Amino acid sequence: MEVFSSFQGEGLYAGSPQVFLRLGGCPLRCAWCDTPASWETSPEATARVRVPEGTRSESAWVSPEEAKLWIDEVDPSGRMTVSVTGGEPLLWAEFLLGLRPLLGRRRVHLETAGAHPLSLSRVLDACDHVSADLKLPLDMGSPESSGFSAEEPSPTTDAQWQRARRAFLESISGRDACCKVVVAGGHPVDAYSELFEDVSECAPELPLFLQPATPVRGAEGPTREEVAELSASAERSGLRVRVLGQLHRAWRLP
Ligand code: SF4
Repeated sequence: MEVFSSFQGEGLYAGSPQVFLRLGGCPLRCAWCDTPASWETSPEATARVRVPEGTRSESAWVSPEEAKLWIDEVDPSGRMTVSVTGGEPLLWAEFLLGLRPLLGRRRVHLETAGAHPLSLSRVLDACDHVSADLKLPLDMGSPESSGFSAEEPSPTTDAQWQRARRAFLESISGRDACCKVVVAGGHPVDAYSELFEDVSECAPELPLFLQPATPVRGAEGPTREEVAELSASAERSGLRVRVLGQLHRAWRLP
């Protein structure tokens, strides 16, 4: 969908200058999704390449080699970390495996929904950092059936979400990784108990970022009191909790 440089606005590496490679396509339907344009792909899809001289449009269907050229155009220094985001980049495991060796000394950070542990296992060793955006099932609409293989359909029930979440957390435990939970307004603290328990049991050492939802598409952000209550609850569960809003939104960065 796009390649551009900016500052990371979320998670463990917030504030770090990075090249963002946004891959289109996502079967999930988060109520507060701020990139719904990433959900669908089409044969005519185009990508924005934002280079220092301006933005140009290209066909979105590229090989890893072509994507690597765009990344080098956006950051000629060859040093910036590449944040692979979406959409849900785990839809494109083969592409990521092809891209990794082309990026040389650049770090590769993966931003994913944490719902597809099998796909993660294919690319995990190709990533220097994984940021898992853990989902509260009550924030999720029905996923689209297309995208992932029949072997790994997107979760729909609470039990499926929990199984996927726990497997995902176990895979990233002990690695350079973090978890994020977008906090929408109006949810009781209890709604997060199971998720906190899963982090506490499967990856207790990972930092957990509570990210107040940016109000979009009718979804509400939380009050300060709701966030404080939730943070206290996560701390009681023994989690390494931090509260961090989307910095790139506050700074009006891409
Ligand atoms: S996983 Fe990401 S791209 Fe997909 S619906 Fe949720 S927020 Fe949007």
